[in-house]
Amino acid sequence: MDNARNVPCPFCGLGCDDLALRASDSGFAIEHGACVRSRAGFGQPPSSAKARVNGAEASLDAAVSQAAGLLGEAREPLLTGLATDVAGSRAALRLAQRTQASMDHLHGIGGFQGVLAMQSSGGMSTTMSELRNRAELVLLVGTNGVDVMPRLTERVLEGSQAAFLDGKPREVVVIGPQAPDASDSEQLHWQHIDCPVYDVPYAIGALRCLLEERDLDDAATSDLPMTALAELASRMREVDYGAVVWGPAGLGAHGDLLVEALQTLVQSLNAEKRWGGLALAGNESATTFEEVCLWSTGYPGRIRFRGDDVIYEPRLIDAGRLLSSGTTDCMVWIGGMEGDHLPGKAEVPSIVLTPYPERLDWQPDVLIPIGVPGLDHAGTSVRSDHVVSLPLRSLRDSQQPAAADVLDRILAGLPARETSSC
Ligand code: SF4
Repeated sequence: MDNARNVPCPFCGLGCDDLALRASDSGFAIEHGACVRSRAGFGQPPSSAKARVNGAEASLDAAVSQAAGLLGEAREPLLTGLATDVAGSRAALRLAQRTQASMDHLHGIGGFQGVLAMQSSGGMSTTMSELRNRAELVLLVGTNGVDVMPRLTERVLEGSQAAFLDGKPREVVVIGPQAPDASDSEQLHWQHIDCPVYDVPYAIGALRCLLEERDLDDAATSDLPMTALAELASRMREVDYGAVVWGPAGLGAHGDLLVEALQTLVQSLNAEKRWGGLALAGNESATTFEEVCLWSTGYPGRIRFRGDDVIYEPRLIDAGRLLSSGTTDCMVWIGGMEGDHLPGKAEVPSIVLTPYPERLDWQPDVLIPIGVPGLDHAGTSVRSDHVVSLPLRSLRDSQQPAAADVLDRILAGLPARETSSC
């Protein structure tokens, strides 16, 4: 393990690439670019955990063979977690095709919301770079930014980095219960329009009515911060470039409808000015899996293989539902960048690939420790705005294999396919 500079970070969808790490026996300390997620991720000491079969230590070969046997017997396997890099996602798709499995990323619901909204109303998206360089006014909905991506303020919102703001401070308005996590500076002015999660859709609806000068029902708006919303609407009309940014996990029930409302708001603002929408949705490698799935199958996730066909069923292929309903008969968890999002105990034969076996409070049938992309092995991840692929580096000698290698070994160990003789 050596000190390293300009290190790309795999631990959230922001994709910072400026970290400076100092090596120590217990993991890396961060000298530049520290945040709560990167500290925890790079601070993990190298793992020497061994594979386990039915709770007993086993060789990797034995664990792979057992996993292949379980998958070979399964009729409705499920591949989930999928918090892995591009190579891991591709290997997962190969295994899913061979075993005719369903696939759902651990944040599949967030991706599904965005896709549904895009299908029904279209969308006008912006990127992290546009946000940083051009946005005079940013609305944060269902997030204060840093609760999803801890360095968002420092790396993107702080107006001193903007190429086209001509020294003017950027205004950021948080709509929802989350308070801003930073105070005003010369380059950044915060405002908080405080309302509970269940009022956020009504606040966005009222904002749109104000912008379009439509009448509002007093009874329907009596609980909303109408003065602040009216001031915001008037400011939104003035700026030349604005952005609406949302955190899918903070949108509450019916998040897809709220995303649709936000996208519609963005579209109506574009009639006269330039606005873009952006979801902070790429954590735990969600965007990486979504992109690989898209370019491999034409669908963004929540798929199942049937014969040579890929079936996209975003409402039905929900990992939690498939497991709780007993529809699936074998679960494969593919991690690498899942952090604390470990799977709960499954009532079906389970194969778990994770760098964090010690965090599991149950014993899967097969447990295979793997490395972390960007720390234990090289790889590629995709930033949450879908436009940048981040080359991840191998920073230390690791005993743990990459998820892609393990998945390909399981694939190679599967029993031969039955062929019909008619
Ligand atoms: S904000 Fe995200 S990408 Fe940046 S250092 Fe923190 S965890 Fe890594």
